[in-house]
Amino acid sequence: MKVTVFGIGYVGLVQAAVMADFGHEVMCVDVDQNKVDNLKKGIIPIYEPGLTPLVETNYKEGRLHFTTDAKEGVQFGELQFIAVGTPPDEDGSADLKYVLAVARTIAEHMNGYKVVLDKSTVPVGTADKVKAAIAEVLEQRGVTHDYAVVSNPEFLKEGAAVNDCMRPDRIVIGTDDDNARQLIRELYAPFNRNHDRMIFMDVRSAELTKYAANCMLATKISFMNEMSNLAERLGADIEKVRQGIGSDPRIGYHFIYPGCGYGGSCFPKDVQALVRTADSIGYESTLLKAVENVNYAQKEVLFKRLNEYYKGDLAGKTVAVWGLSFKPNTDDMREASSRVLMESLWQAGAKVRAFDPEAMEEVQRIYGTRDDLELVGTKDAALKGADCLVICTEWKVFRAANFDDIKEQLTDPVIFDGRNLYEPEQVKRYGLSYYAMGRGDSI
Ligand code: NAD
Repeated sequence: MKVTVFGIGYVGLVQAAVMADFGHEVMCVDVDQNKVDNLKKGIIPIYEPGLTPLVETNYKEGRLHFTTDAKEGVQFGELQFIAVGTPPDEDGSADLKYVLAVARTIAEHMNGYKVVLDKSTVPVGTADKVKAAIAEVLEQRGVTHDYAVVSNPEFLKEGAAVNDCMRPDRIVIGTDDDNARQLIRELYAPFNRNHDRMIFMDVRSAELTKYAANCMLATKISFMNEMSNLAERLGADIEKVRQGIGSDPRIGYHFIYPGCGYGGSCFPKDVQALVRTADSIGYESTLLKAVENVNYAQKEVLFKRLNEYYKGDLAGKTVAVWGLSFKPNTDDMREASSRVLMESLWQAGAKVRAFDPEAMEEVQRIYGTRDDLELVGTKDAALKGADCLVICTEWKVFRAANFDDIKEQLTDPVIFDGRNLYEPEQVKRYGLSYYAMGRGDSI
C-alpha cells in the first residue's frame, strides 16, 4: 500500500521504516529540510536501537522516501499519518498547532479519498477538530473529497521503538468509517500474522486510551516513589518491598521501580494534558495532580541529598554524573531528571563532569558550552578529579562498577544512586558511602 507519514520524529520515522520493511511504500514528509537532507544521506536524526539499518535498507530498496514537498506527500498515499509533536501549551494542555497545520496541508492538496490517521497523542475531541479543519480548507478550495479521520495512537517505547512497532502489543483504531476500517486492516495485516492485535473502537475512546495508558504508567512510578520515600524514613528497603509486592500477579513486577522521577517527552506532558482536559470539563483530577506533584518532588531528591551531604556548601565541588538521558537506550533529554539535578548544581556553584553513552550531543545542543559542564568520553573519565558520583540513568554499562576505582578516584568516597543499581551492603564493603532511593539510609 502507499502510505504518507507527516513528521519524521521518534514516532513517524520508526513507524515509517517498519511499515516499509513489511513491504509498504512510505513517503515521509517533514518541514525540517535539514532532517530530510540528512536522512537521504543516511544520517539518522535520533538514536534508536536497530533503526539505522532499517532506514538504510528500505531507503536503498526504494520503499522509503523523504520529502519536504507537502503536495507530493499528500498525493502519494491513500493513508495519511499525522505523527507531529503535541508539546504542552503554556497552561499544560496539548498544543495542537502542528496537528492542525498538517490537517490543513492535507486538505490543500487532497485529490481523492484519504484516510487520515492521527498517531500523535491528542486530547479527546481532536479528530473532530481535524475533520473540521479539513472541511474548512476543502470548502475554501471549492472542492469535495471524501475522507475519514481515524485515531491510531502510538504505544512505542523510546529505546525499544523498532521492536515495539514491529511486534505491537495492540493496535488501537478509533473509527466509525467502514471503508477506513478495511484499508487499515489491510495496512496492518503484516503485523497481525501471529494473532490479531487490532482493537477497534470509537474515536473518542481511542484518543483517551493513549492518555489512560501513559497516566497509569506514570501513576505506578509516582506510587513507587512515594513508597520509596516512606521506606527511607521508616528504615525499610524499597527493593525488598518491590519484590514483595511484585510477586502478587495482580500487581506484577513490571514498571514498579523506584527512582529519581519520570521524564521524557510523554509522561510529564500527557499527565499534564489529561489534568487540563479534566479541568476544562469541570472535573478535578485529584489522583493525576498528585502523580505530577510526587514526580516534581522526586526529581529534586538527588540534589537535596547532595546538598545535605555537603551541608549546603556545594560551591566549587565537581560532581561526576553517570547517565543523562531520561532513560537508557535513548538520546532523548526531554524532561530528564538529570536536567533538574544539573541545573540545581550549577545554581549552587558546583561543576558537573558527565558521561552518557548517547545523549551528550543533545546535552551540548541544549546547554551549549559552559565552564561548569564537562562532557567526557567514558564513565571512568567522569570520576577523575570529581568529589562524588551521582547516577541518573540506568544504562547497562553502569550496572557493574569497579568500586575500588571509584573510591580511589573520588575525593569523597560517596555515591548517590538515583536508580538503585547496586546492593548497599556490597558498595559499603568497599569503604564507599552509598545513598540510593528508599533503601533505609538517609543522610
Ligand atoms: P518529534 O518532536 O520527535 O517529531 C515531530 C516531527 O514533526 C519533527 O521532525 C517536526 O519537524 C515535524 N513536523 C512539525 N510540523 C510539521 C508539519 N507541519 N509537517 C510535517 N512535519 C512536521 O515528536 P515524537 O516524539 O515523534 O512525537 C510525535 C507524537 O507522538 C507526539 O504527539 C507524541 O506525544 C506522540 N508519541 C510519542 C512517543 C515517543 O516515545 N516519542 C510515543 C508515543 C506517542
